[in-house]
Amino acid sequence: MEYRTLPHGGEKISVIGLGAGGLHNAGPKEIERTIEAAIDAGVNFFDFVATNDTPFEPMGRAVGRHRSDVHLQVHLGADFSRHAYAWTTDAKVAIAEFERRLAVPGVGYADFGFIHCIDESADLDRVLNGGIWEYALRQRDAGVIRHLGFSTHSVHIARRLLATGEMDLGMLSLNPMYDYTDESVYGKGEAADRATLYQEFERASVGISVMKPFAGGQLLDAAASPFGAALTCTQCIQYALDRPGVLTVLPGVRGMDDLRDILAWVNATPAERDYSALATMAPQSREARCVYCNHCQPCPAGLQIGLINKYYDLACLGDDLAAEHYRNLERHAGDCVGCGHCDKRCPFGVAQSARMAEIAAYFGA
Ligand code: SF4
Ligand code: SF4
Repeated sequence: MEYRTLPHGGEKISVIGLGAGGLHNAGPKEIERTIEAAIDAGVNFFDFVATNDTPFEPMGRAVGRHRSDVHLQVHLGADFSRHAYAWTTDAKVAIAEFERRLAVPGVGYADFGFIHCIDESADLDRVLNGGIWEYALRQRDAGVIRHLGFSTHSVHIARRLLATGEMDLGMLSLNPMYDYTDESVYGKGEAADRATLYQEFERASVGISVMKPFAGGQLLDAAASPFGAALTCTQCIQYALDRPGVLTVLPGVRGMDDLRDILAWVNATPAERDYSALATMAPQSREARCVYCNHCQPCPAGLQIGLINKYYDLACLGDDLAAEHYRNLERHAGDCVGCGHCDKRCPFGVAQSARMAEIAAYFGA
């Protein structure tokens, strides 16, 4: 397992986490076994929201045996009072339900207290002014919530919540389908704007946890995918992990079999993680854009092409930390010898050697 650092707080978070949206399909014993097996494999990040309330107790039992080593996203606005999932901005209900989740044996506190699934401005206004926000801040100050976070499918709402300056993590629906097509209401926002949003997270030192990395399974099935071809779980996970700001990807699992499928990423080869086939599937924007996939490697001058491009894009948006990371690299854009290998290899049509000259000029080295 690999780990990434939460910018505010420094916690090490496993790049693969688990969503619980499908866990109600398993019985309590298998749910507990699945969580335990995930923790054994190094997973330390779990979303504590589900389709109904079946998974909470078995999840709590497994998590409780490792509580200080794992992180839970617990949601303010998910209502299970009638046993099935419902969504609410009613502060009284949201708070009572949040506290019921914390009272599940083994849970106790929220590593991340999440403003849950807000996609509309009027709903966010209700959260901010109707009691939920004030409660979340108070619980954070009391240490019951360790970090504040939110989940949304909307670029606009994500920006409003980032602007509060209080957030440490945001959960976004993120996958190639939502980034490249208008196929789903869950992927609101045009591709370039979504790409900019991820950079804004990184610049604000707010991490991203990823939901729907397979678009609910659609991307894994050629017949259902808007691209007319299937990607693998491993390719989708790698795509999400390569976006700026992303700390962890949380596929929803239904039990042990799904867990095995997603953990295949851990030992996958670079070729198995390579998602550049996307270039032939997805409609590309008029301007060729580097997606940091590294398909153009190896560079004979030893440049980390994807990383250099990622730092450059962030630096252009005013991210001084990314500029510093760039300067700390062993080899810089100025070391490019202009061999053109990357230009020929890039499936996304990026004129990378010219871009290296542009990056070198920008950084003055
Ligand atoms: S130049 Fe092309 S192949 Fe290389 S990292 Fe960027 S998008 Fe990928
Ligand atoms: S053109 Fe520059 S960046 Fe591209 S492969 Fe050659 S040396 Fe590396």
